[in-house]
Amino acid sequence: MNKRIYLDNAATTALDHGVLKAMLPYLGDKFGNASAVYSYGREARVAIEEARKSIADLLGTKPSTIIFTSGGTESNNMAIGAAVRDLGCTHIITSPIEHHAVSHTIDFFSQHSTVTRTFVALDEEGRVDYRDLERQLREQYIQLKRCLVSLMHANNETGVLTDIKRVGELCRKYDAIFHTDAVQTVGHYQIDLKRLYVQFLSASSHKFHGPKGSGILYVNEQARINPLIHGGAQERNLRAGTENVAGIVGLAEALRIATTHLQKDSQRITWLKNYLTSQLKNTVEGISFNSTGDSLYTIVSANFPRTPGTESMVFQLDQHDICVSGGSACSAGGPSHVMAALGKDEKFVTVRFSFSRDNDTEEIVHVVDIIKDIVTKKELVP
Ligand code: PLP
Repeated sequence: MNKRIYLDNAATTALDHGVLKAMLPYLGDKFGNASAVYSYGREARVAIEEARKSIADLLGTKPSTIIFTSGGTESNNMAIGAAVRDLGCTHIITSPIEHHAVSHTIDFFSQHSTVTRTFVALDEEGRVDYRDLERQLREQYIQLKRCLVSLMHANNETGVLTDIKRVGELCRKYDAIFHTDAVQTVGHYQIDLKRLYVQFLSASSHKFHGPKGSGILYVNEQARINPLIHGGAQERNLRAGTENVAGIVGLAEALRIATTHLQKDSQRITWLKNYLTSQLKNTVEGISFNSTGDSLYTIVSANFPRTPGTESMVFQLDQHDICVSGGSACSAGGPSHVMAALGKDEKFVTVRFSFSRDNDTEEIVHVVDIIKDIVTKKELVP
């Protein structure tokens, strides 16, 4: 095997060739500014509005609810900022295992304004305790405080899923605003916004084979909000700045392709996940996994008992051209706040394997062979 094996798809995915093809005209001849009235501008405008319509149809919503952003981080900042500044939220209920794009934004608001924040109770794998969520919502409701609930659909390190339908129903009951960071699930699960009670949902194109620097924020049509980024009138005055036409077209095409093949791809990736998990269980004594129940089919988060061999597992796999990450790429170099919040023992080394439709069984067989060597020979470098 002489090609690199990429198993870090929760960090980012490869750009799909079909997506690149759809984008290329807008990086070439069709370079117009969508705000211009002449033909170059009009063709860019048409491309953006067609992309918006296609995305809205795929997510079960109206085009006017889709705002184009630079990615998941901006969408999360926009949603949380708007909930506090425009929708009267004075208390935020969140979890300690959110991505930093959510948790640091909430830190900012709870330090710089009169907003308070509490964490919902989680089980040992990081699943939301819905009874505790309801208790907290009721408590704030009685005190006439409006809540923002910000809970991610799937955790990017462990793959643990949140039942966003259930959270939404609780938010409806207690008149709370619900934001969900769905960066790891849009393009991987069928999301039907018609059936969900949610005010804001964030997604990012590079997590489903689209381009980087392109994302969306779904804003429920009842929510009257102001922009995060001020300037021109783009995105119905909600997000100023000349539109990233190629990025927007790429996002729409990536979501279309992902949705078209979702059933087949998700079944195949689930098989890879189960295969890797069972092989690791058979191969590595004392291994455990961070999400044993219902979890994202694209992630296996494994805890290897710490030994001289496993200590530098990510580095050693890299020496064999296998790309994985320890916990989360975004926390590279530092301890993972997610593992810390879940009380993971220092005696373990956590490795995250994350799959995409580009992976195959042959790759996983090879990865397991290399891990076997690392674990049994206590090999340090090849
Ligand atoms: N939220 C989650 C759960 C993520 O996994 C990521 C990226 O790793 C982000 C937000 C940030 O998205 P982006 O890279 O598009 O800013």
